[in-house]
Amino acid sequence: MNELLKNHRQVISRIKAACTRNGRAVMPLLLAVSKKHKVDKIKYLTGIGQRDFGESYVQEAIKKIIELEQLSVDSSLIWHFIGPIQSNKAKQIATYFSWVHSVDRLKILGMLDQYRQSGMNIGAPLNVLLQLKIGDEASKSGASREEVLNMAAASQKMKNLMLRGVMCIPPRSTDFVVQSTYFRQAKDLYDELVKRYSSVDTLSMGMSNDLEAAIYSGSTMVRVGTDIFGVRG
Ligand SMILES: *Cc1c(COP(=O)(O)O)cnc(C)c1O
Repeated sequence: MNELLKNHRQVISRIKAACTRNGRAVMPLLLAVSKKHKVDKIKYLTGIGQRDFGESYVQEAIKKIIELEQLSVDSSLIWHFIGPIQSNKAKQIATYFSWVHSVDRLKILGMLDQYRQSGMNIGAPLNVLLQLKIGDEASKSGASREEVLNMAAASQKMKNLMLRGVMCIPPRSTDFVVQSTYFRQAKDLYDELVKRYSSVDTLSMGMSNDLEAAIYSGSTMVRVGTDIFGVRG
């Protein structure tokens, strides 16, 4: 577990250093991406102050969420769904999570709103990020800029959702300039949404290998898996 502590500290140092370099006073939130890692590790991280966790697979995530609730580790854990969303999973996602980062279709947006009403988190709206597709290659998920703007407008009528911003997963690159060019597209769209909607305050971008470029480009939330937990099994 010492390894986890060391890794977690190292990621926070990288975030702080990137903020200092870019003259940013407010640090982005660190989302620990725990997919494919065991509950023990999550439990350990909660002990050192990590509150926000990201999961990509619904079945696996719900098992962990329930297990941690039963251990009553900490009722203030915040669960983020960051994986591709199939419509037959929308109900479970709307019920168990506080945030969804990966909304890329109007149909899913409507389903999340509908199911949030009858979920166990009655009262709290589901925080929604719209996923922007970046890069021309045939990446599986994400919506075009125009589709994101349409979804954002539609979300204003959905009482059980709170539009918080934009998420993106750009094509993999090890080049800071290339990474920043991709992130710039998401930042531009985020700025447009901030102008239009007062609830928008979150730009989710940056992972283990590109969090510096993401912070340089204006990220407010980074999603880090490998560099905290180690390589996924
Ligand atoms: C797995 C995953 C991450 C974490 O990626 P690492 O490279 O392990 O840091 C971040 N965001 C999403 C959407 C993911 O699926």
